[in-house]
Amino acid sequence: MLNIAKIRAQFPALHQEVHGHPLVYLDNGATTQKPQAVIDAIQQYYAEQNSNIHRGVHYLSQLATDAYEASRTCIQKHLNAQHSHEIIFTRGITEAINLVAHGFRSVLKIGDEIIVSTIEHHSNIVPWQMACDATGAKLQIIPMDENGALKMDAFHALLSEKTKLVAVNHISNALGTINPIKEMIDAAHQVGAAILIDGAQAAPHLSIDVQELDADFYCISGHKMYAPTGIGALYGKEKWLNKIPPYQGGGEMIATVSFEETTYADLPHKFEAGTPNIAGGVAFKTAIDWLNEIGLENIAQYESKLLQYASERLSEIDGFRLIGNAPQKAGVISFMINDLHPYDIGMILDKLGIAVRTGHHCAQPVMDAFCIPGTVRASLAIYNTKDDVDRLVEGVKKAKSMLS
Ligand SMILES: *Cc1c(COP(=O)(O)O)cnc(C)c1O
Repeated sequence: MLNIAKIRAQFPALHQEVHGHPLVYLDNGATTQKPQAVIDAIQQYYAEQNSNIHRGVHYLSQLATDAYEASRTCIQKHLNAQHSHEIIFTRGITEAINLVAHGFRSVLKIGDEIIVSTIEHHSNIVPWQMACDATGAKLQIIPMDENGALKMDAFHALLSEKTKLVAVNHISNALGTINPIKEMIDAAHQVGAAILIDGAQAAPHLSIDVQELDADFYCISGHKMYAPTGIGALYGKEKWLNKIPPYQGGGEMIATVSFEETTYADLPHKFEAGTPNIAGGVAFKTAIDWLNEIGLENIAQYESKLLQYASERLSEIDGFRLIGNAPQKAGVISFMINDLHPYDIGMILDKLGIAVRTGHHCAQPVMDAFCIPGTVRASLAIYNTKDDVDRLVEGVKKAKSMLS
């Protein structure tokens, strides 16, 4: 049994009052709070190690480089990648997907196809639209059913030798749907297509093995998994990272520069132009170690029980409509109350010290498919409790009576 009170005690941000009420933080799909260990790691890095990496011969530069590279190795092990140079540090998922989408401009030609799904975050739609615009390739969309699960028959029917890449999320941030990515990866490979998995919402809740999955690209974002903002990682198979060109030019990513010719550095540096978020990278390892100490299996189990409790309690409310009820679902509850505007509900909840997300959650196509303007979204993390859920239910009831 996990000691949630003990875990919760490690998060200073959770222990404050908002508008005169103890904070209930249920916006973890947008970003998680940070444990003291992560906050300490940032402080310690700047107080004791701060220096630029991969450059200096001096002591601090070595320390900083070692700490940053230890984080890369930690991520490699965490995702079970074969090589540490298959891990590229990025600002987050958005930059990771842009890096791949930009690189694929050199692979795509007119008539090629890229497949995404209806339930993607905008960051897994727009970069592909841009790549299609630049190359004449065509974007194909996997539809979803009324529960928010992808229509797998339609996915299989879309795949052909024209398909060059499939890009889907592991777990939808708007609905919580867990996609059958192993089946999708195998199907993409059957037609010779590469596949990118957006793991923003999966990495804080599930253990991931990129070799077992056989994913070509898998992206994770630090700030969704208890690490700082502005740091994330792209896993890419060596053969793909060698094939696609660099995303940004600058320092650190070159082997030699002259005005006649510039040659690029080896992996992973080829994709890491400029001075990165070193402190963030170092603290990313702290967050992953922290997660592993609790154990992702334990986390998944706890959150799934809490999800069930929250779903049951919220459905007691008259007019509650759950948006997204796929058979495989993670800790996200997106809902409407009658036809009350989600924003109005969110405003009242905020006055009661309850943080949720309202709106389209950067997934407008999902809302369009459900013909709704948006939802109220409560998203769970390991520090949430039944008490948080009870406060949410009370708050929603109050909002309903005020707005009806
Ligand atoms: C948050 C999120 C993103 C964007 O990630 P950043 O690291 O903030 O750029 C992309 N996809 C999903 C599913 C997300 O939840």
